[in-house]
Amino acid sequence: MSAQREWFEKDYYDVLGVPETATQKEITRAYRTLARQLHPDANPGDASAEDRFKDVSAAYDVIGDAEKRKEYDEVRRLGPVGAGFGGPGGPRGATFTTENLGDLGDLLGGLFGRARGGGGGAGRPRGTGPQRGDDLETSLHLAFGDAVHGVTTSVNLTSDAPCSTCHGSGAAPGSVPRPCSRCGGRGVLDENQGFFSFSQPCPQCAGAGVVIDDPCATCRGSGVERRPRSVSVRIPAGVADGQRIRLKGRGGPGRHGGPAGDLFVVVSVAAHPVFGRSGRHLTVTVPITYPEAVLGADIRVPTLSGEPVTLRVPPGTRSGRTFRVKGRGVAAAKGAHAGDLLVTVEVAVPTHPSASERAAVEELARVTEGTSPRDNLGV
Ligand SMILES: [Zn+2]
Ligand SMILES: [Zn+2]
Repeated sequence: MSAQREWFEKDYYDVLGVPETATQKEITRAYRTLARQLHPDANPGDASAEDRFKDVSAAYDVIGDAEKRKEYDEVRRLGPVGAGFGGPGGPRGATFTTENLGDLGDLLGGLFGRARGGGGGAGRPRGTGPQRGDDLETSLHLAFGDAVHGVTTSVNLTSDAPCSTCHGSGAAPGSVPRPCSRCGGRGVLDENQGFFSFSQPCPQCAGAGVVIDDPCATCRGSGVERRPRSVSVRIPAGVADGQRIRLKGRGGPGRHGGPAGDLFVVVSVAAHPVFGRSGRHLTVTVPITYPEAVLGADIRVPTLSGEPVTLRVPPGTRSGRTFRVKGRGVAAAKGAHAGDLLVTVEVAVPTHPSASERAAVEELARVTEGTSPRDNLGV
């Protein structure tokens, strides 16, 4: 919460010296210039430069990120900045904290309540104006091949959703919410107190901006009901175990005209009996015989698509060596090359050699007598 209070009180555009209409590029450029000028390394022992450097970094941390900037702008728009709390054009030198603001503190509490996620409407303060819906999280189990190739599937979850009877309006079928007459649909009232003016949630509509004369029976006017739903999700090829996929606007419904939250799908990928994954590469371990390792061989190697490929193992290949079969990993995608199949060969040691195998190996031992691979270890 304290970070958002800071948002409310600080004009990050002013800190970076850019207009509110600046593009992300312009913001980044302004930040880089200031950061270079104010960097502690360039101003040793200068405490005021260090403070400004921190302010500039904090400002860029928020408005340098398009997503956070949108939230910041929203906070400053929906908060009473228009009425003059250190906002652009407001009277300077007057500092208020949200503790002083009474109902407005509640307003901010409601605005930021969504960050807690999960829950839903219960305990939600009334009179909060447009509210973004909750961010939700759900898990999805994927087969190994589906994670590699990508798949379109659906996740099932029970969560708040727009009421199916009134489609989220909160008004009984056949009726519509009407704009609140007291606040003209704005949800807030401006109250002039001498030099300042305050915005207060409208008491007649509790900040909603609309009045529902005939509330929907299913949701009792909230516009929201808890029900199971199925959300279609397109899993891109090469998704990794533990990865979070964000489905924008598929989380909890917004209230009073606010946008829906996001749904985060956390993927867990099942293991494969033969293949492993290393980023966009697939891995496989293939046994070879000692003669194949010594003399070299063309061996057949399985691929995930089912069609085996031939791999040339050169003479004198040590156990544990890894070969690369180009392009047989995760398929190429926008911004990502195709992965490879990484084949690690492992010399198989027979645990129950036949009599003739045993004789042949004993013969090998005889001809290599007197030499040892451990010679250069000095033992
Ligand atoms: Zn309803
Ligand atoms: Zn009203």
